[in-house]
Amino acid sequence: MSELTPLRGTLLRLLADGQFHSGEQLGERLLVSRAAVGKHVQALKALGLDVYSVSGKGYRLAVPLQLLDQARLNEALAPGRAELVPVIGSTNQHWMESLSRLEKGDICVAECQTAGRGRRGRQWISPFGGQLIMSMYWRLEQGMAAAMGLSLVVGIAVVEALETQGFAGVQLKWPNDLYLNGRKLAGILVEMSGTAGGPCQLVIGMGLNLLLPRTEQERITQPWAELAELGNIEDRNGLVIALSRGLQRRLALFESEGIAAFREQWNRLDYFNGKAVRVLMGEQEIQGIARGIDDQGALLLELESGEIKRYLGGEISLRGEKQR
Ligand code: ATP
Repeated sequence: MSELTPLRGTLLRLLADGQFHSGEQLGERLLVSRAAVGKHVQALKALGLDVYSVSGKGYRLAVPLQLLDQARLNEALAPGRAELVPVIGSTNQHWMESLSRLEKGDICVAECQTAGRGRRGRQWISPFGGQLIMSMYWRLEQGMAAAMGLSLVVGIAVVEALETQGFAGVQLKWPNDLYLNGRKLAGILVEMSGTAGGPCQLVIGMGLNLLLPRTEQERITQPWAELAELGNIEDRNGLVIALSRGLQRRLALFESEGIAAFREQWNRLDYFNGKAVRVLMGEQEIQGIARGIDDQGALLLELESGEIKRYLGGEISLRGEKQR
């Protein structure tokens, strides 16, 4: 996997405007040969960036890219509270390894993950600049049991933050996905560490598709969506800031009121509410109509008999009637 060396970082900042830059001009700015420019462009492509080369014109990014900016994050969220690592294995992994030095609400953001992960070891595709990749540290003094339903609140907080930035119409899928028009827009992955009787330390990760390069799109194994379908994404730093603030506010309310305070809102945003679904648990598959969540955040499923079954946590996946 290629690295974002300082020279490649400078090259990317030169290309970020989405305009053509000749190999010669780039070479002069970077103090390297044209051939070396070509090699560094290949390295940027390997990170998932769409860079075009047209003979006689030079190189350009498929679309202009606003890079994440550590100084802007510091200014908005207070110095030391946000760590930007442009290319990382996994922001969740990095934060899980940093627990002892973190304060509640601290975030790690990245432009690209080389080993992004979903639930149960599944792969999460995070090409450079194509997503909003963020992990937040949180801590619950009441212990692990108090974390029940937390991933649902995270989903709500993200939908609300997107609304404040002008992106309306995003929905939720129990327990940890964001959907746009029935396709997966973002995944949330909550990881925990703690001992019985002690506080619970949490790393809340999310990967939200903004605009994915075509080469990476083909690697996603289910119907997916990107935020650009709802409008131009001009301020990626602004999105990170809005998300970080919104999450802190909603997690604080969750701590004092529990998941019951969010039930109505969840049910309004629930993509599958009232639809025919399948609940998958290992080899087992149960069909019914999704009926939102209860006061503990459990998924409610109405069976053909009319009986309502509840499902809470664990290795449960929800699918539409005809979804794979
Ligand atoms: P579950 O309902 O069990 O959570 P899931 O298949 O959505 O099921 P996750 O662990 O949440 O599983 O996410 C991993 C899956 O998401 C991958 O197997 C792949 O199908 C899909 N995926 C990977 N990268 C992306 C992406 N950038 N955008 C949308 N979907 C993705």
